[in-house]
Amino acid sequence: MISTGNKIINNLSDYEKERTSFSWETVGRDLDLGPEGSGNNITHLAVDCHAQGKLKEIVAFRFINKDKTWEDFSYLRLKEETSRFANVITGLGLQKGETVFSLAGRIPQLYITALGTLKSTAVFCPLFSVFGPEPVFQRLHKGEAKILVTTLAIYEKTVKQLEERLPSLRNIILTDIEEHRSEKILSWKRLMNEASPDFQIPPTSPEDPALLHFTSGTTGMPKGALHVHKAVLTHYITGKYVLDFHPGDIFWCTADPGWVTGTSYGIIAPLVNGVTSVIDQEEFDAMRWYSILEEQKVNIWYTAPTAIRRLMRMDIKPREKFKLDALRVILSVGEPLSAEAVLWGEKNFGMPILDNWWQTETGGIMIANYPAMQVRPGSMGKPLPGIQAATAEVTEDGLKFIKENGKQGHLVLKKGFPSLFRTYLHEEERYNKCFVGDWYVTGDLAKMDEDGYFWFVGRADDIIKTSGHMVGPFEVESTLMRHHAVAEAAVIGKPEPSIGELVKAFIVLKPGNEPNEDLKLDITGFARKHMGPAVAPKEIEFVESVPKTRSGKILRRLLKARELGLPEGDISTLEKT
Ligand code: ATP
Ligand code: MG
Repeated sequence: MISTGNKIINNLSDYEKERTSFSWETVGRDLDLGPEGSGNNITHLAVDCHAQGKLKEIVAFRFINKDKTWEDFSYLRLKEETSRFANVITGLGLQKGETVFSLAGRIPQLYITALGTLKSTAVFCPLFSVFGPEPVFQRLHKGEAKILVTTLAIYEKTVKQLEERLPSLRNIILTDIEEHRSEKILSWKRLMNEASPDFQIPPTSPEDPALLHFTSGTTGMPKGALHVHKAVLTHYITGKYVLDFHPGDIFWCTADPGWVTGTSYGIIAPLVNGVTSVIDQEEFDAMRWYSILEEQKVNIWYTAPTAIRRLMRMDIKPREKFKLDALRVILSVGEPLSAEAVLWGEKNFGMPILDNWWQTETGGIMIANYPAMQVRPGSMGKPLPGIQAATAEVTEDGLKFIKENGKQGHLVLKKGFPSLFRTYLHEEERYNKCFVGDWYVTGDLAKMDEDGYFWFVGRADDIIKTSGHMVGPFEVESTLMRHHAVAEAAVIGKPEPSIGELVKAFIVLKPGNEPNEDLKLDITGFARKHMGPAVAPKEIEFVESVPKTRSGKILRRLLKARELGLPEGDISTLEKT
């Protein structure tokens, strides 16, 4: 381990220097990428090359069971298991570029499916295990699934009824039946027992399709973003620079592989960097989470604002109850992380929580607060070396880049980085619309300050136009969150002819607070004092919870549709409370 005394030297210690000298070609050379060859395959880089070297006995994945016992997979074991699976699907006639889906909780078979599929040069697409039949159908249909790996219970409950509507789904592999049921419904155990643990990875081009990921559906119907093997360059370098992986590290990414974070950072990035990941098979539970951090001696913890807000709401002082000395880096992604939350991390863990920004479409982290860099609480940080980010107006004549510091505009990224999506499956026009000249328009609005830090404003679709102001919901929500009684807030614009839209806030209170008129007035007064009357909410409604996607994002469009009595639109990713 690179350390001076107990202090670990961050991989990215001089941001400006690295930014100037960075090139993707150098990263490609580091990983030994060529034009064509098995060495370009994600699973070769993530698993096989380590299994053939000195990491072979190192734990790649540790799966924690409900009762806190665990099962370890060394890099060598993972190589063999993923080879078996690659042999299984090749034996079933699966061709390069065809799609294998998984629909399961965070069980080992899901991870083996992911890596084994990539190894065979087929395309892997994970689905969130609790999706109901319609969301599952839409995605399997759109992604032209050929093979699905799932459990017996999910098959009986969700998939069986869809089979007739999915004629191209050739095989369903059930992880927990002993014997094959038919030529189509097969037993994982039988297939894997009979398969060889040796598999020769076929030649893989860096541009071969690898991963299909559906977006969270926060702004509308989820889109299927397609990524190629070369995306691994982003996974590798962000693992190094942002997550700051060092040999021997224990890493915990709490995201489910049903979302892109759970694949890019729950599977690929830690493996390519040769560290150990712990995977909890259970859902969120504050005490359980803290105890996992302690017992597993987690060094790097990657989670999301929704979980952090839940932890903040509870009256637990983690460092008083748990020994968390191993923890070195805490990171967050998925939604804006308020300055409050960053400082809460500082107070409760002795380190700020590092926010970073990216999307399904970008395949990996694009803008980040790096461990060695001064954090500006509430900011997303600075672009990854190798990524050019800017703010711009989108006009008929192309992009007009914003020169003034602190003025909001569309967050845009220069094309050409390896993990940028290559298409929206079957939605070529929609894909093309995301690009203006050489730039990808992300759909988010942001500001850049005089030192190059980016600040999230909101999704372009969520921006509220009130009395001539453009208000981002995040700004209002963050301020409301600073009120002592507020646990969570979601803000929308409600049409109001005299001012365009009025700002309405839905507020979840912290336990012990009565939802009454006095409290409403108090919160309104607080908001006006801190934001001014033009931006402060004109309407407040207390609610038990706010609707969220399964990946933990507030569904403002749903709140708005309900408020206005409009159709709810696609709610396939809505978390059931
Ligand atoms: P859809 O595209 O279907 O509406 P989605 O955009 O929520 O869904 P994802 O790709 O999972 O789907 O989420 C990416 C989006 O999440 C970003 O575009 C941004 O709006 C938000 N986001 C992610 N990280 C951050 C962050 N650190 N700060 C602010 N917003 C973030
Ligand atoms: Mg999106």
